[in-house]
Amino acid sequence: MVDAGLKRELEAKVYAGERLSREDGVALYECDDLVWLGRLAHHVRTEKNGDRVMFNVNRHLNLTNVCSASCAYCSFQRKPGEKDAYTMRVEEAVRLAQQMEGEQLTELHIVNGLHPTLPWKYYPRVLRELKAVLPNVNLKAFTATEIHWFEKISGLPADQILDELIDAGLESLTGGGAEIFDWEIRQHIVDHATHWEDWSRIHRLAHSKGLKTPSTMLYGHIEEPRHRVDHVLRLRELQDETGGFQVFIPLRYQHDFVDSADGKIRNRIQAQTTMASPAESLKTFAVSRLLFDNVPHVKCFWVMHGLSVAQLSLNFGVDDLDGSVVEYKITHDADSYGTPNTMHREDLLTLIQDAGFQPVERNTRYEIVREYDAPTPLAERRSVPQQIWA
Ligand code: SF4
Repeated sequence: MVDAGLKRELEAKVYAGERLSREDGVALYECDDLVWLGRLAHHVRTEKNGDRVMFNVNRHLNLTNVCSASCAYCSFQRKPGEKDAYTMRVEEAVRLAQQMEGEQLTELHIVNGLHPTLPWKYYPRVLRELKAVLPNVNLKAFTATEIHWFEKISGLPADQILDELIDAGLESLTGGGAEIFDWEIRQHIVDHATHWEDWSRIHRLAHSKGLKTPSTMLYGHIEEPRHRVDHVLRLRELQDETGGFQVFIPLRYQHDFVDSADGKIRNRIQAQTTMASPAESLKTFAVSRLLFDNVPHVKCFWVMHGLSVAQLSLNFGVDDLDGSVVEYKITHDADSYGTPNTMHREDLLTLIQDAGFQPVERNTRYEIVREYDAPTPLAERRSVPQQIWA
């Protein structure tokens, strides 16, 4: 219960730019006054990023869905020999990349299963060949979990692995594999061997080599708010040390509706939990923005939240939307949410401007590609039919 006195204290800290504590974070999650939380987060978001909303135009590529692990929340992974298990040959990945030429992409986002037999050399080779086909596209590839896996299959240290991948064209790691770091929860949902110690070691190393990386959190499953607070504080401390995180992305855990390909439900925790409601998601964006005071951006990955929540999130601390995602399969595998899998530049511009913000296209390094007009005042937009999103 957050009484008026505590609210005043927290408000004073936020407006003075004072760092919030673990207890403050837990108290913010206990607060049901969503409008008040949004106002505080919006203050911080506006101080850092004005009325801009960044986005990038990207495509996702999953080279293989074959994975040695079986994380409890994951509906993407397949075991070798399963009917719809696939692994792309380098030539297939290149052919897909060739089809993307001319789409004005700035980023290719590549994450994969932990394939049991693919040799390590496949990965730098595929990056090098993708870069040759798409020289102006930033390659954001591999989770810390995958880098840790490459250490295991190659016998090389992450230091050498990253050097080789950077030489092949890697420009950023992806932020996945973080989920919830607290072991109390992690042991029940994560099946691979990469936990906080290795995840943070690999991001620290990437930062020391000049790579900027994203950070993520999977929430809304069996964790409690205190685990979310703990997760963000670990990242905040690492950010104090390296300054290498560009963005924090709270990812909403998704139930696995019946798989259209084989009728199976792979998610093993959905009997124990519901998904976060839109209000809980907005609260998580707001509290994350308030606690993670040293990360420049907070992103909403709209595929997991739906476009209405994505639009509202811009008033709850979010200043970055993931762009034209053509295909995303890790948790959003042909389900029945009604959230589209693709969205194009024009749709994003309308979504952002309609919420009263200025769209700014960025690349993977958060350099500005193009600034768009600030929104037309609402009074002048009233005669234009409103677009309705799911
Ligand atoms: S989340 Fe990643 S590591 Fe875990 S089972 Fe799915 S694909 Fe494999």
